[in-house]
Amino acid sequence: MTERFDLIVLGAGSGGLAAAKRAASYGARVAIVEGDRVGGTCVIRGCVPKKLLVYGSAYAHTLADAPSYGWLVPPVQPDPATLLRNVRAEVDRLNRLHIGLLEKAGVDLVPGWGRFAAANTVVVSAADGSERELCAERILIAVGGRPHRPDIPGADLGWVSDDLFLLESLPDAVVVVGGGFIACEFACILHGLGVRVTQLVRGDHLLRGFDREATLAVQEAMEEAGIEIRFAHSPAAITGQCAPGEFTVTTQSGEQLSCGGVLLATGRRPFLKGLNLEAAGVAVEGCRIPVDANQCTNVPGIFAVGDVTDRVNLTPVAVDEGRAFADSVYGRKPRQVDHELVASAVFSQPELSGVGLTEEQAIERHGADGIRVHRARFRAMNQALPARGPRVLLKLVVEAASDRVLGCHMVGEHAAEIIQMAAIAVGMGATKADFDRTMALHPSVAEEFVTMPN
Ligand code: NDP
Repeated sequence: MTERFDLIVLGAGSGGLAAAKRAASYGARVAIVEGDRVGGTCVIRGCVPKKLLVYGSAYAHTLADAPSYGWLVPPVQPDPATLLRNVRAEVDRLNRLHIGLLEKAGVDLVPGWGRFAAANTVVVSAADGSERELCAERILIAVGGRPHRPDIPGADLGWVSDDLFLLESLPDAVVVVGGGFIACEFACILHGLGVRVTQLVRGDHLLRGFDREATLAVQEAMEEAGIEIRFAHSPAAITGQCAPGEFTVTTQSGEQLSCGGVLLATGRRPFLKGLNLEAAGVAVEGCRIPVDANQCTNVPGIFAVGDVTDRVNLTPVAVDEGRAFADSVYGRKPRQVDHELVASAVFSQPELSGVGLTEEQAIERHGADGIRVHRARFRAMNQALPARGPRVLLKLVVEAASDRVLGCHMVGEHAAEIIQMAAIAVGMGATKADFDRTMALHPSVAEEFVTMPN
């Protein structure tokens, strides 16, 4: 028997949950299909558990600095097993919370993997082998992405980020492959938890796409902390055995690195496997589903939001795309998502965060003479007593002609919290003079944003 709905949402991650609940709030009859755990990447195996691990590993710095602030700390050692267990318990709580929120919103949760049978029909296969056929006027694809392993012998022996949250303990040494968000965040997490980390980066710098000077500040801090970063290095093969956890990474230059685990943080790809998009005629471009500004695919009635569309692959963006879809289609409040000015952060230690144009992008758009760059680089006051720690970088990229702040970037403690607020000013078109007119809040790190000389 075919079950009928107004809307079927494929994927109960950030974008799908937001869209389903918002559509239901307008009175739509909504089914949400999820083969894995409700919550998706962000809640189950991404942002949330990652940030908890960042908090856990950052105690290494606090404890190291404590004696200079008059705390007699006996010798301590990390207990990653407890941290990982506690993080999993919190993820379980959030998973239950999200299931409860769906119930409260009146959304039908259909467990299982969905595949298109036609443009308005989805067949859902449950874990017990049973199948349900759902039909709806509209279908929203919000299935997200999955980690992508490089095509090298032994790639299956490596972990992807999903696997790290399931570990019971950590090895002594880990090779991290990649120089992006996940590689840098986990290199710092693992290092803080006492693991010897070697990071292999195929290019010549970390964190492509971020302000170059800011990425250099992160690199300097990570290297100073003791993370070994090898640029122009890629793995050619991984050999070893999972049971004792002994692996050898052979690099393309023939070097061999022994370790207890290999983290492959080499990007993510939209998760199209099993969707049977051909049955609905949904077009795919590369490995993503292209959509227009209203989240419409090429097939009327089929929409897509979030990482599966591979635009700005961040949780708040997927949430806003999901809500904009529901507001427009069911709430009679048509709106489009602004993908232009999106603040982002890398939760490396120290954090890197930015909004607007990087210096490189600003030069490309306005020419080197068309912009001014103001920066402050210093040791924050909380590092005065320990007399160590990474230097903070604060940077404003300003359009010379208009004095408008085009970009605002920071490397340092609480960078994400500070840039979140700066994003409001940058979004409103604030000028450097507006920043300067703001009274400094002293003593703070962020006050340097309003006291930079012209
Ligand atoms: P990224 O695209 O950020 O980084 C991938 C890295 O892997 C790059 O350094 C890339 O090098 C390298 N790489 C790719 N293929 C290979 C290969 N075959 N051999 C060696 N190196 C390779 O992806 P991540 O996996 O780190 O993260 C995926 C996405 O998840 C991010 O883009 C972001 O959208 C999201 N995310 C956001 C977070 C946040 O907001 N804090 C945290 C974590 C993830 P190159 O630069 O040369 O291409």
